[in-house]
Amino acid sequence: MTKTRRPTIVVAGAGLTGLCAAVSAREAGAHVVLLEKGSREDVGGNAAFSGGLFLFCYDGPDDLTSITEEFEPGMKADRIEAPPYTRQAYAAELMAMSDGQAEPRLVNALAERSLATVRWLAAKGVRFTFNRTLGAEVRDGVLHIPPGQVLTCTGEGMSRGFEVIRPLLAHAERVGVEIRWSTPLADVLRSDGRVTGVAIGDGGQTVPADAVVIATGGFQADRELRREYLGPQWESVRLRGTRLATGDGIQAALRAGADKAGTWSSCHSAAVDPTMPSPGSSEASPPFPLHGFWLGVLINRDGERFVDEGPGPWVKNYSRMGKAIMRQPGCEAFEIFDQRTAARVADEFAGAAVPLVAHTVPELAERIGVPVDRLTHTLETFNNACPPGNDISEDCGTDGITPPKSRWATPLDRPPFVAYPATAGLTFTFGGIRIDPDGRVLGTDGAPVTGLYAAGEAIGGLFYGDYPGGAALMRAAVFGRAAGHTAATETRPTPHLA
Ligand SMILES: Cc1cc2nc3c(=O)[nH]c(=O)nc-3n(C[C@H](O)[C@H](O)[C@H](O)COP(=O)(O)OP(=O)(O)OC[C@H]3O[C@@H](n4cnc5c(N)ncnc54)[C@H](O)[C@@H]3O)c2cc1C
Repeated sequence: MTKTRRPTIVVAGAGLTGLCAAVSAREAGAHVVLLEKGSREDVGGNAAFSGGLFLFCYDGPDDLTSITEEFEPGMKADRIEAPPYTRQAYAAELMAMSDGQAEPRLVNALAERSLATVRWLAAKGVRFTFNRTLGAEVRDGVLHIPPGQVLTCTGEGMSRGFEVIRPLLAHAERVGVEIRWSTPLADVLRSDGRVTGVAIGDGGQTVPADAVVIATGGFQADRELRREYLGPQWESVRLRGTRLATGDGIQAALRAGADKAGTWSSCHSAAVDPTMPSPGSSEASPPFPLHGFWLGVLINRDGERFVDEGPGPWVKNYSRMGKAIMRQPGCEAFEIFDQRTAARVADEFAGAAVPLVAHTVPELAERIGVPVDRLTHTLETFNNACPPGNDISEDCGTDGITPPKSRWATPLDRPPFVAYPATAGLTFTFGGIRIDPDGRVLGTDGAPVTGLYAAGEAIGGLFYGDYPGGAALMRAAVFGRAAGHTAATETRPTPHLA
């Protein structure tokens, strides 16, 4: 007699993507084995270090309060100004930030499924609250929030993203996902054109599976791959998140026939405090991001400006600042402010970073070790290009200088001056595996690689030059959930005899 059994889905990686894939595959009735390279303390991957910001579509305040009110009964929607964020706006933003290179069907799937997926996370116990720090501003007693970037998970500080992981892990365990810690995926095993399991550890042991979901993140933590794809200057860069995303799953998928997608030579990289090392574990603090650049200027070791510090809201542009710094001599820079903004920067955007302080520009040049004449000339030229008046306003851009400062341009003329040394902190890589919107891995011929699925930072095709804050956690959840569901529902288990 032939008895059908439930399909076994192996999910590799217990970050946000892997947890979503595992829970979703379980909901669809599969037996799920979740393999994590790190120990239980490493659960969550990059999400455990993240700001917990989710970028998703909504039509109005009701969509938001329906997600948050249970947890924040005191928060009234009429105190929040949050214009609708439509699917079209989401898609347009991703396309614009990728210079039109993002794959439209992935973009559309991300936008279309974003709200439902935030609700799905909330139903699993993830708590959301209104974003009051990442780009949000209180004016006249009203909380104004950049379109889309409305909710973060609850929790404190820049690493509040762990609060997404904690309830999801508890839920996965509750619903019977079998989790194996310290069990790295080494390879995907195939036979007769179908996936049969994975090799683990040093490759000597195997775990049988009817389908495999790759959720092992990007390759940012591998020195060799960084050098090969991002360039030699990235070899010794600081990481902002997990040390375990070394591209293992991406490489295994490529060996199994997956196609590459996206830009492999680019990444998300913020300006960070160079005195803070890469975190060793998810309990350690990541290098503090210096997100105050838009309130001052960025100067390189030659005393020159090199980037538009105010192309738009900082939360939509910080991912390009690290890359801009990496192109400078010595891969270092200084964020410079005067007394107009120094206190705000120290309060909101510098963490424990300690600035160098100087009463004159020549003294500042000496303290930070850049040529006095160059820095003097750069700041004079910048100040002269700023519009008259004392306001720091989004509408104020420089005139006649290259690079411009398109917004928030005000002269730096109120000493003492402060300078924060800055270097690049690598958040995640942009290149990865090609998938379709349902998480199927696609081969070089464009057809699905039967039994192989992938999502999250392991995939390419969505982010290119830049990325809007919140879209990466959303990508992890949307495509992780999709990949787990597709794997469980379209995989026919190999029948065995009973
Ligand atoms: C400091 C910081 C702040 C951020 N803030 C935000 C934010 O506010 N909003 C936003 O949208 N995004 C943010 N991001 C990005 C976001 O956190 C990530 O894009 C997202 O969490 C990626 O999830 P993932 O599961 O795909 O990959 P990862 O988080 O990298 O998880 C991969 C998992 O796979 C495991 N693994 C690796 N190799 C193997 C293997 N061979 N076998 C088994 N397991 C393996 C890893 O240990 C890890 O647990 C931030 C990132 C950082 C670092």
